[in-house]
Amino acid sequence: MRALSLLMLVLTAPLWSWGDKGHRVVSILALRSLPPGPRAWFLGREAELCEHASDPDHWKKDRKEGPRHFLDMEPYGDPEHLPRTLDEAKAKVGGDYYRLGVVPWIIQDRWRDLVEAFRSGDPAKVTLATAILGHYIADAHVPLHTTVNHDGQLTDQRGVHSRWETGLVERYIVAEDLPIQPAQPDEAFLQRPWDWLVASHGLVPQLLADDREADRTTPQDSHGKQRSPAYWTVFWARQGPVVEQQLQLAGKHLGDAILSAWIAAGRPPSAARPAS
Ligand SMILES: [Zn+2]
Repeated sequence: MRALSLLMLVLTAPLWSWGDKGHRVVSILALRSLPPGPRAWFLGREAELCEHASDPDHWKKDRKEGPRHFLDMEPYGDPEHLPRTLDEAKAKVGGDYYRLGVVPWIIQDRWRDLVEAFRSGDPAKVTLATAILGHYIADAHVPLHTTVNHDGQLTDQRGVHSRWETGLVERYIVAEDLPIQPAQPDEAFLQRPWDWLVASHGLVPQLLADDREADRTTPQDSHGKQRSPAYWTVFWARQGPVVEQQLQLAGKHLGDAILSAWIAAGRPPSAARPAS
């Protein structure tokens, strides 16, 4: 019975984010991108940050949580004219706006939480606020978090969501091999999520085409559920650079977010003692 419920848990695992490993990788990249001032706040708390990076995926019993992880763009028309406020979203699509996803606004709210955490002087609060902010920033870099066809259900490619963000990441990504871009302060940080989402959205057609191509050129089992090793080789050859790029960008943007929040809080020195 226990095994069965565990299986159910796995089968119904959230479709709305990088797997656990992806979120850990983004946290690690962000920490490595930071200059000493904000970096000092996380000394001895690196593991804690990674452990909490997937927390929001465990909050989905609350029905309001799911839409915080994505933004379906198509109902809004031209991606260059996405709504910038919830009022604008509502005006464009009516009462459905929340169901279509609210990730850019959640990133704004959680970034303000991080500024407050820095002001509080408590490194534990800073770590937790960073983990939560980082989760949503990472999700905004997953192309399939920007489309109504989020699991390939409209193009007969069910499961592509997890094949891309978990299957490829678990099989092939080595965090230590990914290059680090130093974090930069960004005064317009609160407007950035829209740029990331538009860029992510532009990656959707090729991602779906590559999944189809990997399926077309490799053997499948009779149920079409389990992919063969050949499938993974082909899908990785085509999408590996994109997965790596999106993880790197998410790590860089989380680094920018932390640095900018620390500056907005008045560059507070950390009370944490460096590990000797
Ligand atoms: Zn998520």
